[in-house]
Amino acid sequence: MKYISTRGQAPALTFEDTMLTGLARDGGLYVPETVPTLDTAEIAAMAGLPYEDIAFRVMRPFVNDSFTDDALRAIIARAYAGFRHDARAPLVQLGPNHFLLELFHGPTLAFKDFAMQLIGQLFQAALARRGERVTIVGATSGDTGSAAIEAFKGLDNVDVFILFPHGGVSEVQRRQMTTPDESNVHALAMDGDFDDCQAALKEMFADDDFRDGVRLAAVNSINWARVLAQVVYYFSSAVSLGAPHRKVSFTVPTGNFGDIFAGYIAKQMGLPIDRLVIATNQNNILHRALETSHYAKKGVVPSISPSMDIEVSSNFERALFYACGRDGGAVTRLMGDLKKTGEFVIGNEAMGALKQHYDSGYLSEEGTSAVIARAMTATGEILCPHSAIAVGIGQEAAARAPEIPMISLATAHPAKFPDAVNAATGHHPDLPPHMADIFDKEERVTRVPNDLAHLKSLIRERTRT
Ligand SMILES: *Cc1c(COP(=O)(O)O)cnc(C)c1O
Repeated sequence: MKYISTRGQAPALTFEDTMLTGLARDGGLYVPETVPTLDTAEIAAMAGLPYEDIAFRVMRPFVNDSFTDDALRAIIARAYAGFRHDARAPLVQLGPNHFLLELFHGPTLAFKDFAMQLIGQLFQAALARRGERVTIVGATSGDTGSAAIEAFKGLDNVDVFILFPHGGVSEVQRRQMTTPDESNVHALAMDGDFDDCQAALKEMFADDDFRDGVRLAAVNSINWARVLAQVVYYFSSAVSLGAPHRKVSFTVPTGNFGDIFAGYIAKQMGLPIDRLVIATNQNNILHRALETSHYAKKGVVPSISPSMDIEVSSNFERALFYACGRDGGAVTRLMGDLKKTGEFVIGNEAMGALKQHYDSGYLSEEGTSAVIARAMTATGEILCPHSAIAVGIGQEAAARAPEIPMISLATAHPAKFPDAVNAATGHHPDLPPHMADIFDKEERVTRVPNDLAHLKSLIRERTRT
C-alpha cells in the first residue's frame, strides 16, 4: 500500500518513507491510498486480547513490507513496555453510559506517548537497517515535545530539537523537556505562541536545501505513523464495550486534530463508531467551523488547557481531504486561502460529509473548572483540564443518544496541570513517585527569537553528522 498527499502533488511513498518524511513536499499530509478494512469477525476476535496484540492486528495492514511481522511485534512490545498500567489504555466508568479512556499511563503522562514511543522504536529499527541518521524538529504546545524527547533521547542516529512557546507551557511540561541530559536533545524556547512555532517548522520543511542538508524528519502529529498508533485504542476500548456488535461514540479533546482523526480512520476500517465529538476549549475555531462552515482565525487566547491552544489545526486538512472527495486541488485552494487571509469557507457538500461523522462543542475556562470539580465529587476521578473538556462535552453528547456508550478521552494526567486542578478542587495532584525528582533537576534550554534564519543556523550548527 502506498501513501498519497492531501494536496495531490507529492510522490506516493511506502509506509517507511512516509514515516521518515513526515510532511509531504507539496505541503500536504500523507494519507493511505486506500484504508484497509477489518471484518466483523476480525474485530470481534480482538475482545479480551492484550493491548499489544490489538495494536499488531490494527497496524499490520498499514505497514506492508516495511517491517516483518516479527519485527513489528517486537517494536510494539518495546514501545509499550514502559507504560505503568497493564491495560495500557484502561477504561473507567463515569456514569450509566459514559466512560473515560485513560491515556496517560505512559512515560510522560500524556496520550502522546502512545504514538511517540512507537515511532521512536520504528525510527530506530528503520534507520539502523538503512544506515542513516535524521534530525527531528518538532513544535509543541506542551506534551508532544516531552513525549518526543522521551522517545528519542540517547539514540545514536537521531538529533532532536523541540520548539515550544516561551512561557506557554506548564512547569511540569517544560521541565520534562529541559531536564533530560542526553546530548542529542535540544529544547528551544521560542518568543511566540504555538502557531508561530508550528509555522517556523513548516517553513523549515518547505526549504528543500535545509530539509535535505540536515535530513529533517517530523514527528509532529502530522506524521502518519503517529495517527496510526492512535487508531489502536479506539479499537481496544470499543471492543471492551461490546463492539462490533454494539456502536460506541467518542469525545476527543482536540487541538491539532490528530487524535480524533485516528478515530475517523478506525471508523473507515469498520469499527462501528456513531459520533466523533470534537471538544475544544475557548480557542474553538473547529467548533465554529462546524457550526458556520467558516474556518476563521481570530487569535489564540491562552487557556488552562494549553495543549489545545491552537488555531491552525494541522490534521484537519486530512479530514477536509476526505470531506472534499479526496480532491487534492480543493484542499490546496482551502489551505492557500488560510495562509493568505487567515480563513476559508467549507463548501456545502464537504460540510455534509463532515457532519456525517463529527459533532462539536467547546467549554469556557469556568466551564472546564466546573467539570473538574464536579467529576471529583461525583466519581472521585481527578481530571486534567483537557480531559475535563472531553468529559463535559461528552456528557452532553451522550445524553442525546443514551443507548450508545460514550467514551471520553483523558489525554493527560492531572499532575501535569496542578495549578488548574488545584484551583478547581482545592486538591494538589501529585506526580507519580518515579517522576517526583523533576523539580530538583537542572534545566537545559535555549531561548530563541521567532526568526527562521536564526533557527536554521542554530540547528545546522548543533546537528551531528
Ligand atoms: C496534544 C494534546 C491534545 C490535542 O490532541 P490533538 O491530536 O492535537 O488534537 C489534547 N490533550 C492533551 C493533553 C494533549 O497533549
